[in-house]
Amino acid sequence: MAKAQETDDLIGSRLSDADVRELRARVKGEVITPADTEYDRARAVFYGGIDRRPAVIVRVADKDDVARVITHARESGIELAVRAGGHSAAGHCVSDGGVVLDLSRLRAIEIDAEGRVASAQAGVTAGEYTAAADTHDLATGFGDTGSVGIAGLTLGGGVGYLVRKHGLTVDDLVSADIVTADGQLLHVDADTHPDLFWAIRGGGGNFGVATRFELRLHEAGAIFGGFLVLPATAEVVHRFVAEAESAPEELSTIASVMPAPPMPFIPAEHHGSLVVFAMLVYAGAVEAGQRAIAPFRALAAPIVDMVKPMRYPEVYPPEDDAYHPVALGHTMFVDSVGRGAADAIVDRLQHGSSPMCVAQIRVLGGAMARVPVDATAFAHRRSRIMVNLAALYERTEEKQEHADWLSRFADALHTGDDGAYVNFLADEGEARIRAAYPGRTWDRLAAIKARYDPTNLFRLNQNIPPAPGS
Ligand SMILES: Cc1cc2nc3c(=O)[nH]c(=O)nc-3n(C[C@H](O)[C@H](O)[C@H](O)COP(=O)(O)OP(=O)(O)OC[C@H]3O[C@@H](n4cnc5c(N)ncnc54)[C@H](O)[C@@H]3O)c2cc1C
Repeated sequence: MAKAQETDDLIGSRLSDADVRELRARVKGEVITPADTEYDRARAVFYGGIDRRPAVIVRVADKDDVARVITHARESGIELAVRAGGHSAAGHCVSDGGVVLDLSRLRAIEIDAEGRVASAQAGVTAGEYTAAADTHDLATGFGDTGSVGIAGLTLGGGVGYLVRKHGLTVDDLVSADIVTADGQLLHVDADTHPDLFWAIRGGGGNFGVATRFELRLHEAGAIFGGFLVLPATAEVVHRFVAEAESAPEELSTIASVMPAPPMPFIPAEHHGSLVVFAMLVYAGAVEAGQRAIAPFRALAAPIVDMVKPMRYPEVYPPEDDAYHPVALGHTMFVDSVGRGAADAIVDRLQHGSSPMCVAQIRVLGGAMARVPVDATAFAHRRSRIMVNLAALYERTEEKQEHADWLSRFADALHTGDDGAYVNFLADEGEARIRAAYPGRTWDRLAAIKARYDPTNLFRLNQNIPPAPGS
């Protein structure tokens, strides 16, 4: 009890003016406090409804600054949040009353086209990296959104449009530079600190602050893909998933079953009606792509068919910086989407708890599934399909209603796979974090955590408490 009170006091503690002066003197980067005009912009995150007020935000200038902020947080006991792209669903990248270590100024990218590796600092976004790599007709697979940070995404696994062809983002991670809780900068790869290298490939921000990633590049350049929007009957949903499962590995799909949004390229008469809003990416030659995508086009008369030869970076269309949705989600894996499950998807979405409810379906397999389950801290290699359910809403008092709807929806789809993908977890409690790291994975991570962060300095995350010798 006394211990818990002490921890609460530390978390609730505020930095004194002297602390802020000391930080300003210590670091080369920008130190932003509530007194600065930049403060509100600096504490805003991708998701709406997250309104935390850190005591100080440090936009670090380099890896030495990272070490200095870590040391300051450790010595002062103040809560430390680590921010890269700012897309955490739990809002873990911003602390209430603590210090935010903001990596957004670390934006350098170097491409070694001949060696097929990129070196990118931790503040780089997926879109920036992808544009830089594309100048050499190369790519690394990240997620479905360009503004997501490569740091948070990579540390949790990374499931995107190249997942079936090249695996997860972590499967392309060659090395990383990590500042650990004691302020040391470690270069981590398969041979140097292999335990840490295993842990950061899925274990999130638990083990230190990554300042740089070295990632393998693949030939990409011209590909075949784009949006395909189909009417969402149960038959179309079921057959879409079946086609995606039997498609060649070059094809990765992300299909969102949802009410058609009022986008200019969707005919107005379809706005609001339930559709399969899919992005298809065939990472290969155009003719083979045409053949792979033909069965999807044949599922129903497309409402929109924008599938065409394209450059890989076009998977990231421009985004609206002012878009900050308030959303509640549930991430899960399923073994199949049979006709019964497809019926449930269509029915639940037609009776959604909010006007904008979504079931996003990502068929996995391919290269991702060929990596042994225990090779990295991402332990869901055998999971066949990821499903992300979400309700977008406006008024906070509605939250419980959406939570109940999501929980009933998830129960209806459950096929026995109890896993969860850490990068899509919100603040959902320890059982769900354990679902992200099942069985032996949790024990291994907890032991590595005890080695590199014994006092749990990095705790504002999907936390794995240190457990020595487990
Ligand atoms: C619109 C949207 C689309 C998404 N699409 C995908 C997708 O297609 N595929 C997918 O796999 N994921 C996807 N995600 C999930 C995304 O991978 C996670 O939210 C990820 O944590 C975001 O990383 P970030 O750097 O942007 O976020 P941040 O909020 O800055 O970071 C999240 C957490 O990661 C840790 N962290 C970040 N940077 C570092 C670092 N340098 N060192 C140590 N720890 C760090 C910290 O604990 C931090 O709180 C999506 C999220 C959103 C909001």
